[in-house]
Amino acid sequence: MLTSLFDNLPDSEMVPVLLAMLPNPGSMAHPELCRRPCIYFAAGSCANGSACGYCHLSHEHRPSHLDRRHRDLLRNLSEAECLALLLPVLRCRAESTGLAAEAVEVLALLEDRAVACAAPSEASRAATAATTPPQHQVSKLSAALCKMPFSTVLGMALRGATGCENKHEEDLAAMGGSSDQLLLGAVDRMRARLAPQAVGA
Ligand SMILES: [Zn+2]
Ligand SMILES: [Zn+2]
Repeated sequence: MLTSLFDNLPDSEMVPVLLAMLPNPGSMAHPELCRRPCIYFAAGSCANGSACGYCHLSHEHRPSHLDRRHRDLLRNLSEAECLALLLPVLRCRAESTGLAAEAVEVLALLEDRAVACAAPSEASRAATAATTPPQHQVSKLSAALCKMPFSTVLGMALRGATGCENKHEEDLAAMGGSSDQLLLGAVDRMRARLAPQAVGA
């Protein structure tokens, strides 16, 4: 859609225009994988300008918050349940927004994580079964999540994957910080792939 704006321009004029159009870091990969909207920019002026780490593009019509009930529900899920819920949402969102190819690495790492954290929970399944929320609530939550930007759901998955409260010490050690780094690195690479490229520059 970006290129359609420049269809009438000769090639020699394209590069400077594209460079000028490069967004600030926080707006890169908007709308699906940008950072959260900049409150200063929204209020009229952002002193960080082209260096700002928050998104300067329009987020008006996209719901980016879950209601309280859904947030509580999500918080009470185990890491394995959380990833089992969020992974299909992310996969579906990536496909519907045309990002399936870019999202492959991130989704594969999250899948590995889901498998890794599902295994040790076998022993504690009896304990968690009692707190598992009713299926209809989970499907409503999943429907709400499907309307949210990829980055928002991904953030929830990353929080679930790295900061789950009911995770045991040994699980944390087993998962290690290195796979978190791997995941965050994959997200950065996906964002870079989605950022507009200055062709020929
Ligand atoms: Zn954005
Ligand atoms: Zn800003």
